[in-house]
Order: sequence, then structure tokens, then C-alpha cells
Amino acid sequence: MTEPQDPPFDVPAPDPAPTADPTFADLGLRPESLRALDALGYEEPTPIQREAIPPLVAGHDLLGQAATGTGKTAAFALPILERLAGPAADPVALVLVPTRELAVQVSEAVYRYGRNLGAEVLPVYGGQPIVHQLKVLKRGVHVLVGTPGRVVDHLQRGTLPVDGIELVVLDEADEMLDMGFAEEIDTILEALPSERQTVLFSATMPPRIASIAKKHLTDPVRIEIRREEPAEGEAPRVRQAAYFVARNHKAAALGRILDVESPGAAIVFCKTRGEVDELTETLNGRGYRAEALHGGMDQEQRDRVMGRLRSQTADLLVATDVAARGLDVDHLTHVVNFDVPSAPESYVHRIGRVGRAGREGVAITLAEPRQRRLLSNIERLTRQTIAIEKIPTVSDLRARQMELTLDQVREALEGGGDLDRFRAVVDALADEFDVVDVALAAVKLVHEASGATDDDEEIPDLASRPDKKGKGKDRPWDDDRGGKGPKGKHASKHGKGDQPFRKGDRGPRGPKGDVARLYFGVGRNERVRPQDLVGAIAGETGLRGDEIGAIRIFDRFSLVEVPEASVDHVIDAMKRTSIRNRRAPVRRDRDEQ
Ligand code: AMP
Repeated sequence: MTEPQDPPFDVPAPDPAPTADPTFADLGLRPESLRALDALGYEEPTPIQREAIPPLVAGHDLLGQAATGTGKTAAFALPILERLAGPAADPVALVLVPTRELAVQVSEAVYRYGRNLGAEVLPVYGGQPIVHQLKVLKRGVHVLVGTPGRVVDHLQRGTLPVDGIELVVLDEADEMLDMGFAEEIDTILEALPSERQTVLFSATMPPRIASIAKKHLTDPVRIEIRREEPAEGEAPRVRQAAYFVARNHKAAALGRILDVESPGAAIVFCKTRGEVDELTETLNGRGYRAEALHGGMDQEQRDRVMGRLRSQTADLLVATDVAARGLDVDHLTHVVNFDVPSAPESYVHRIGRVGRAGREGVAITLAEPRQRRLLSNIERLTRQTIAIEKIPTVSDLRARQMELTLDQVREALEGGGDLDRFRAVVDALADEFDVVDVALAAVKLVHEASGATDDDEEIPDLASRPDKKGKGKDRPWDDDRGGKGPKGKHASKHGKGDQPFRKGDRGPRGPKGDVARLYFGVGRNERVRPQDLVGAIAGETGLRGDEIGAIRIFDRFSLVEVPEASVDHVIDAMKRTSIRNRRAPVRRDRDEQ
């Protein structure tokens, strides 16, 4: 009936994943780390990991210019793990970070990468009871991750054994200086053994950073994660849109966006194999013919996917960067970043797959609120604006589905021809029913048969949250802590604002206004720590760490204070999330009701 058309994807010759880039194994990492990375679904090192890991493993000092989101944490965490030998005693590595959120985040990353080595990591930051830190320090840790203020505290109390420290990392050094930690950093570095290895990462390299580097680093390897400028006049004709959504709503949001966009052929990029598999399943459940493609698949499986693409039995390809690399994809209408890519260059490569040969293309990015800074980096690199759009609401979706049904019926009417075949059916029904009712029933059947999904759950759109409160990108959870913004941005904002900026660690400020207490059915018995709760809530809901109030952990449950206005959102998000690998019942605390 229909003429064969060009397949939406041009499929290359049999070897689809050629790669000359080094793998994690090529970087000389120990097998335990390789297994952990594999389990996390990391397929290949990011540029910063490729450049930083070998010299760090070889023991060099390093001065690196790289922003958050580039995979910087693993770039220093993996070399630290190379130094672990035997059970935890005095710390062998110290990582200094500007905020407690980052301390928790980095600790969790080191723990994840080092799980096969039994890595013991302790985050130390102001506001957390020091007794707990003392107890763990006494028991022994491999790696200490702390904010400068609290680390100096420990030094002054004599509770931080420094003699065993072989490696120190200053992470987000420009940010630490912006926060007024220059003196503390000096004090700490002076207190450490002089034979140590020193690593400094900073998003920017102002003279103050250069002078710290000059004073404290020895013959460092310098790394700058270069930005690949798109060639003049080569900017693809691509509509670029981003949506802000909590992690647990991402798949639903994507389904809805795709329903409204109705792509001809799309490729959805994910970071890890696990994400690829999970999302493929979700999209198939939503009526899309989605195919997974990742590096973990054997040749036969890949061939099968290619075959289905060639025959157009699939309309979405869900892939990791590595798997898509050998694939020359043509006639694509949409590229979707299910996550903001870690390297801005990879964003440019991905969206370069649409808008070819003068065709219009669409690039869609799903971002979590904390990834705002990554998006700004990309905008700076591409010198193009990414429009922040609203996730289609249930009524947007319904309207769009109706529009598609209307188009289908109109096409059938205008196509004329073989409608007469159905006249006998309409005539028979017209004796019994009103003709308009007959038409309505027929349209309903068309509508349902075209796969209109029964999707009636509103998805919280987080795009407008930061601005609503008038704090914009200056909120710490935005991940937009300084970077390339105007100098002194933080100092001045915090200095004048209602949350005074203090030198030293920032203690928990707690929620403003009405507060509600939530009950979580996990506690000390499950080894839940305050940072597990803060990390999970902040990560899943976009609440800032300082919007989360008092946390009390009991044997079998925990109580956490959150702003009253966010209660439903938090409960909803946390029901779908696990804490320390457990799904915990969560509800408003009974005592409070
Ligand atoms: P970071 O810049 O360290 O904050 O990392 C940003 C994100 O990238 C984190 O979610 C990491 O889990 C993830 N990530 C880091 N390295 C890789 C990699 N090689 N492959 C996939 N994801 C990665």
C-alpha cells in the first residue's frame, strides 16, 4: 500500500561501537572500582576522568578547571580509592568542599565507587552534632569529606589525625574562597604532612586560586576541560527546550512531552544502561515502540534492534552515548536528553543529530532543579538559549490528543474513497440512534485506538520554583554557587538578604514559616543517617537543605521537619524513593495531626 520510505535511521555496517577512547580499565583502576562503575552503569570515562585519573593515580599534584556535572567527583574519588589498603584507621584522604550539601553528595559518591573495597567515608560539616563525628573518627575512616570550618574545628580540638593523610582535594575551590574560607584552607593545608598529594578543582581560575596553587601545589599537572566551539555557521536549526522536573517524575514527564510533541523519529539519551532499560520499559508501557541500545548488549541483540529500526517497527531509540556513537542517525526529528549531559560537548554532539540538511529539529532536555548551572554552561558554550518550558498539564495533553484524533478523522473524510464501505453500518445505527451520537461513538473508538493514554496525574513543574521566591539562581541547591557569575554575587546577596551570610560553616537554618513533621518508617536499625534523609528529600523534591528542619532518628523510624507548604509534594516524592536501599513508609507524623 505505502511506498517504502527512507528508514528514519541509517544503520551502519556491523561494528557499531568502535571506540579509540580509553576505557576505565585503561586508566589503571583496580578491579573492585571497575566492578563498582560497571554496576553503576558508567560505560566510559568522561573527559575529565580520562585526563585526571592517570596522573592522579601516578601521584602527581593536579590543578583542574572544571565545573560540577562533568564527572569531577569520580575523577578524584577513584584515585583516592586506589590508596585504600585494609580496614579503616586514620584517614588517608581529605576532601574539602564549600557546603554541607556537597559534603554529603561527595561522601555518597566515594562510598558508591568504593563499595567493593569497604570504603569508610565520613562527611563532617557544621550543624551536625560533633559527638557523632568524633565517635566515627575514633572508630576509623578512610576518607574524610568536610567543610573547611568544621575541619579546622577538629584540628583545633586535636580530634583529626592528620599524619596519615596522603592526599587532599580542594573541590570547588573558587566557591570556598567566595564563602570566605581562605584562611581555613591555609590553616588546613599547613597542618597536613608536606609529603602529601594535593589536588585543586575550580570552575574558574581567578588570581586568588592561582596563588593558592602556587603556594600549596608542587609541579601540578594542569587540566582544563576545553570547550568545543561549534564551527561558525554550523549551528543546527534546532528548537531547544528544557523542562525542570523531579527525578521520580521524569519518565512520566517525558511520556507526556512526547505525546504532545508527536516526534517522527527520536533518540533518547540516558547516562547509564540501567536507565536505558528502565525508560525503554516505561515508554513501551505508554504505547511507544521504544528500543534500547546500550554497550552492555551483545552483537546479536544490537543487530536485532537495528533490524527493527530499519523496518521502522520502532519509533524511539533509547541509548547511551557510547552505544549511539557508531550509529549514523538520519531523519531524526527529536533528540531527548533524559538527563543534562555531564559534558557540554556531549550536548552539542547529541543535538547535532537533528536539524541536519536544513530540516527543523527539536532538542529536549529534562533537568533536575539542581542542574540549572549545567544548563547555563551549555548555553554559554553554544551561545544559544535553551527555552525553559512548562511540562504539559493533563488538560494540555487531552487537548493535543483531541487535535490528533480530529486530524485523523479529517484525513479520512478528505481522503474520501472507501468510506462508502461503512455506509451500511451507519444506516443500520441511524434507525436506532441520532446520527451525531453515532459519529461521537465512532470518534471515541478512533481516539482510544490511537493510543491516547489515560494519564490524569499532574506532574509538578519545578521550573518556576526558584524564581517564585525571588532568589533565582543564588540558591545553593541550584548548583549555581558562583561559577562564572558576577564576582562577589553570593557575599552581597547573602549579606543583605534575610539569611545572613556567615563566615564559616552554615548551620541548618530550618524551614521558614509553618512547619510540618513527617514520619519515615526507617531509622537507626536500617543505619539511616541525617544526610541520607536530607540527601533523599533534597534530591527528589528540589527542597534546599536549609528548608529541611530538625531531623530525629529513632531505632525504627525517623522524624523530619519540612515546610508545611511542601508536605504533599515531599510525601508523594518520597513514597517512590528508597532511603538506604529501602522503600520506607512516609506520612505526616501522627502526633502532629
Ligand atoms: P559530578 O560532576 O561528579 O557531580 O557528576 C555528575 C553526574 O555524572 C553524577 O550523577 C555522576 O553519577 C555521573 N557520572 C560521573 N561519571 C560518569 C560516567 N563516566 N558515566 C556516566 N555517568 C557519570
